[in-house]
Amino acid sequence: MAVIDKKVLITTAYRDENAYYEYWGSNVVGRVRYTYDKKNSNGLRFLKENIPHIDILEFPSYEEYKRALKKDYDIVGFSFFTYEVPKIIEMVKDARKEGIDEIWAGNYGSMTYGIDDHFDKIFTGYAEKQVADELDFEIKELKHPMIVDYIGTPWGIKGFPLGILFTNRGCTQKCKFCQTPVFCPEPSKLPLSSIEEVIKNYKEAGVEELVIEDENFGIWKKHTNRVIDLLDRYDMGWHPMTRVDILDKNLEDWYERGFSGTLIGIESLQQSTLDNIDKMIDVEQTLDLLKRLEEKKSFVIGYYMVGFEDDTVPLIKESISHLNQYSIDLLQVCVITPFPRTPLWEEISEKYGIIEDDWSKWDTKHLVWDHPNISQKEMEDALNWAFKKAYPIRKFFKSPLKYYKRRQIRYGYLKTNLKFVKYFITSNIGIKTG
Ligand code: SF4
Repeated sequence: MAVIDKKVLITTAYRDENAYYEYWGSNVVGRVRYTYDKKNSNGLRFLKENIPHIDILEFPSYEEYKRALKKDYDIVGFSFFTYEVPKIIEMVKDARKEGIDEIWAGNYGSMTYGIDDHFDKIFTGYAEKQVADELDFEIKELKHPMIVDYIGTPWGIKGFPLGILFTNRGCTQKCKFCQTPVFCPEPSKLPLSSIEEVIKNYKEAGVEELVIEDENFGIWKKHTNRVIDLLDRYDMGWHPMTRVDILDKNLEDWYERGFSGTLIGIESLQQSTLDNIDKMIDVEQTLDLLKRLEEKKSFVIGYYMVGFEDDTVPLIKESISHLNQYSIDLLQVCVITPFPRTPLWEEISEKYGIIEDDWSKWDTKHLVWDHPNISQKEMEDALNWAFKKAYPIRKFFKSPLKYYKRRQIRYGYLKTNLKFVKYFITSNIGIKTG
């Protein structure tokens, strides 16, 4: 094994005080809700697991970052999203002032137009091997780190731990709005041996629920089946991020093998919009699937986008009210955003024009282009209305009941109750991940 002779730090953008990215917090108004703080950076964990010599900083405070710069690094790399670009540029300037020789960029934000001059090297895609090559280090087989997040409440009490699992990377589809086909043009599978190793580690640490954060779980039938066999063998509950058509085909089979819920792109209830963005799914199929998920007491996070070309504020309100009739535990409402290097960017910038040059607003919560029917202020108001409408307080009570019921069907009352006590204790004590 080559010895890396360069001192390398890879960091995310700094966070404002205690402001971690939070799933519920960014989609729900009010404090009667759950929390799912993202304190781990998946990308950085993979880098560290596979190239142990590098240092990583996950969502440091600004002061922590500035202190780290004093440690005489040769290279500082940044992993970020588009909305974090202004912070990253500030951090790059600090690093240059500190005399850092080389500055790197990676993750989806590195595809942002007009920022290349700030960096000496830009990595596109999942970059462990590219980074290792740069450092003259060899990764024989990609290892999967343990990454544990917690479902809790704004009052600090945690409910249970969730392990993060990746089984593949990239996607074989080409939805017009999505950066994945450009970011990762060649989808790949994670090695089954690494997947088994991390599932085993989760089990031993008392983590029995996994969120599968593939861009699109299930794109390879044989690989997916082998992964599910492993999940079944280790008696895991699992929640994949997948497409409506894939889940529609597999729901009954997956349910028998531990499927507990899903993160799914509903995107729009207008068929013409879905066709226009090349999503290739059917609205009726989506609604039917939502009903079947409800019957199976499955936990659902649904991604929904508003502000398409033909949208109006009344149409947005009508579709959110319609979706509210289904048992979606968290509806993540986003404003359609023509991200750099997507076909949608080309289309929108040519037809309507981009009106927002502050990249911090490119967080899918702001309108960044000149919409024919909706102003930026109207979109902001419609989004706030949608957040309130899509998360009535009853969901705070209904979701855990559904969650409990799903496990009770699988394990019976006694075993389920014991499991919940164990999850509560382990998550509030904290789980060691290496
Ligand atoms: S299916 Fe999902 S990940 Fe794949 S291109 Fe479409 S939006 Fe992107």
